This record gives sequence, C-alpha cells and structure tokens, in this order.
Amino acid sequence: MFSKVLIANRGEIALRIVCACRELGIRTSVAHSQPDGDSLAVRLADEAVCIGPASSEQSYLNVAAIVTAAAMVGADAVHPGYGFLSESAVLADACQAAGVVFIGPPPHVLRLLGDKARARRVMQAAGLPVVPGTDSFDTPEEGTRLAETLGFPLLIKATAGGGGRGLRVARTARDLEHSLGAARREAAAAFGDPRLYLERYVDEPRHIEFQILADETRALHLGDRECTLQRRHQKLLEEAPAVGLSEETRHRLGGLVVKAALAVGYRNAGTFEFLVDRGGAPFFIEANARIQVEHPVTEMVTGVDLVKEQIRVAAGEGVSFQQTDVRVTGHAIECRVNAEQAETGRPSPGVIRAFVAPGGPGVRVDTYAHAGCMVWPHYDALVAKVVAHGRDRGEAIARMRRALDMFVIEGIETTMPLHRRVLREPDFLAGRFTTSFLERFIT
Ligand code: ADP
Ligand code: ADP
Ligand code: MG
Repeated sequence: MFSKVLIANRGEIALRIVCACRELGIRTSVAHSQPDGDSLAVRLADEAVCIGPASSEQSYLNVAAIVTAAAMVGADAVHPGYGFLSESAVLADACQAAGVVFIGPPPHVLRLLGDKARARRVMQAAGLPVVPGTDSFDTPEEGTRLAETLGFPLLIKATAGGGGRGLRVARTARDLEHSLGAARREAAAAFGDPRLYLERYVDEPRHIEFQILADETRALHLGDRECTLQRRHQKLLEEAPAVGLSEETRHRLGGLVVKAALAVGYRNAGTFEFLVDRGGAPFFIEANARIQVEHPVTEMVTGVDLVKEQIRVAAGEGVSFQQTDVRVTGHAIECRVNAEQAETGRPSPGVIRAFVAPGGPGVRVDTYAHAGCMVWPHYDALVAKVVAHGRDRGEAIARMRRALDMFVIEGIETTMPLHRRVLREPDFLAGRFTTSFLERFIT
C-alpha cells in the first residue's frame, strides 16, 4: 500500500480523500492554492503544499506544479478528486514519467473517454445502446451536413465537454446555423478543443448512471443512481437506486456496462451515464473516468467505500469484494448545497458566519465548511452534500427533510430552500419527473 498520497484538489472532496487515506493508514499531503491555505482539508491532512495562486490555471490545473509537489513531499500516488485534472491524460502521463501513481484510469482510457464522440462509437461497438448522433466535426459546414442525416431537434455538444457546460439545443436547421459558430468558440475557450458533435435530443428524459469499479482482472458494478434533477444540465439532487428503472433494464444495463468496461481496459472507479426516454429505453451518453460528486449515495446503499477502493486498485491490491457481494440496501438521496441563490442559481460567495451541520440516524454530511470559513468566488459553488439513507425512499425523504431543516448556514445564500420545496412536491414524491422538472421552480 502507498505510504503517502498527494491530494490534488480542494473543498469537500479533498477532505473526503483525507478520510479514506486516514482509514487506510496512508499519510496525506494536500496540494492547495494560496487562498485555500487554511482550509479544513489543509488543517486535517498530515501535510500541505502550496502550488500556486487563486487562479485554477496556475494551481489546481497546473500539471507541472502538482507533479513537482508530489516529488517534493515524497508522495507515491496522486489523487485528483473530481473536476480539475481528474480526467487529464496529461497529468496521468506526467505522473507515470515521474514514477508516481495516478489514482484513476490509465492514460489511454482517459483519452478515449475524454473524446465524447469517440467514446460513443467505442461503447456502441462494445454493445451499449447509444443515442443516435454524429462523429466530431470541425467546421460549421460539416456540422450542417451531418445534421441533415440526424434530423431535428438535436443537441450540440463539445467533444471535450463536461460539467454540463456548452450544451445547446437546435430545433431547426436555422437554430443550428445560428449556434454552431458560438458553440465552437465556447468549446475552444472552455475545454481547449473547438470540436463539436451532434446528438438526437431526447425529449423529457431521465438521467440514470451506473457506478463501476475495475481492477487488473475484473470489472464489477455497484448499481445505479438517478440524477435527473438538474439545473442547467448540472445535477442538484441524486438518488440510489434510480427511481424509474425497471428491474429488467437495471439487470441488463448492469451486465452491459461491466462488459463495456472490460472491453476498453477500464481500471479504477468510473460512471456510465445514460438517458432513459419516455418509453423506458436507455441510451448511453458518456462515461466519467473519475470519482463522482454523487458517489456517497452509492456508498450509503452498498456499504462500500469507493474512495478506499480507488486507492486499493491503484496500489495493485484489487477491489476488495466480488460482484455477488454487492447488495443494495434501502434508498439514499443526496442534496447538493451550493453557494447560490436558490431560485436563480446566481453565485453567492462570502464568509459563512454560522454553520451547524445536521447528524442523527441515516444522515451524512460531506463538507469543507465551518463557521468563519470563506466560500471563494474562484471555485465550484458546492459547499456541502447532505446525504440521507433510509430503509426505503419514503424514509430517506423524511430524513432529508429534517436534515435540511436542522442545517444552519448563515452569511451566504444556498440551494437549500430549493431542495426543501422539491422534497414536498407531489410529483417528486411519486417519482414522476424528468430533466426539466426543476425548471418550474426557477426564475
Ligand atoms: P458529477 O458527474 O460527478 O456529478 P459534475 O458534472 O457535477 O460531476 O462535475 C463535477 C465537477 O467537475 C464540477 O465542478 C464540474 O464543473 C467539473 N467538471 C467536470 N467535468 C469537467 C470538464 N470536462 N471540464 C471542466 N470542468 C469539469
Ligand atoms: P457533461 O459531460 O457536461 O456531463 P452530458 O453528455 O453528460 O454532459 O450531458 C449532461 C446533461 O445534459 C444530461 O444529464 C442531460 O440532462 C442533458 N443531455 C445530454 N445529452 C442529451 C440528449 N441527447 N438529449 C437530451 N438531453 C441531453
Ligand atoms: Mg455527464
């Protein structure tokens, strides 16, 4: 096993990785930006090393600074968390060159899945049902031509996209013509790659996904999650297991994602994302080659510590259990508490004056926040994840409601009021919702 892990991330996930390492008896060093110098992760880790100023480009996205920091502190592995460089083949390569283990999939898998158009083709060949769509293209003319064979409405996506950003619906050829230029420029600026691809727009879908774990010899899955409740294509509330998935589809997709993971030589933790149309048919959209924000709901229903498994796999120890050991017990829900005005989603950074996190039966809070801490405007707005587990969905919802009622955060605005409303909506309670559900609450 590793003796020291460098954590190349911040916020709640940095702290989450500290937890896993501590339980495994591994020392931790947090690579942080200047403003994060007194963060909880820095305080609770064994060591910390400053890798640059506030700007992510110069700190959390700085490959050279991270690899240098790993060498400096004598880390034998780097955990990249989610976001930032978590899916960067460049970081994985640089780690390899420096003799440090990258805790994640191998570079060839990161390259494959980081090209969403190529991933679609490969996953289709591996047997997954895939949303009808196109290959990547570079010029608006090619895009217009490809759209003719696909038909409308369609979605314009960035080949290197992520984080729910840069998706545009085109209902007509005119829409498409209007949008392609801007989409291309936006993709180049946001993801460093201007290429786009097109996908059939699935009307009123649900988003479901499968958690996988793979080591040198096996791939297994830990069931599914429902991530349908989104705002601007960003997940806000997630559940495990998925609410609207038939047992037949669940069983079939579980088998298919394991086969697909083996086919591409997958290693470590990952997620296969699908849209389910109104007729119940699932379509693969992308695979995320990292730990996900919503991984705790899977941990609550399976009892598996996914971050510890990631570290074990990277250290060559293999996944600590068999597929037949995986049991889904009860139901779990996660609410993302973001520093945002609840109705508009407008960022609300600032100092948290009062902070009291809920506890009690079945409740878990993953957070970096505390009274007096600063929520910086430079980074992701996620402040805390409240996770509630119950014997069934009803109990999980009741626990989440009371957990949110007991959660005190003063000084910034958060998404909690939105969650409180959603948790009382009859359609939510009945499991009747699609990805546009949250729009009705949004101004
Ligand atoms: P999850 O699928 O784990 O819920 P999200 O899509 O919410 O993850 O992304 C987690 C974090 O990573 C967010 O801060 C998101 O903005 C960021 N992120 C994910 N993928 C990318 C990417 N390709 N480029 C930039 N940011 C990304
Ligand atoms: P990202 O890499 O940014 O996470 P995804 O491809 O996973 O992008 O899509 C993010 C979200 O956008 C999905 O969860 C879904 O709500 C919506 N979406 C993506 N593809 C489609 C599609 N073909 N039709 C309808 N909605 C889609
Ligand atoms: Mg996605």
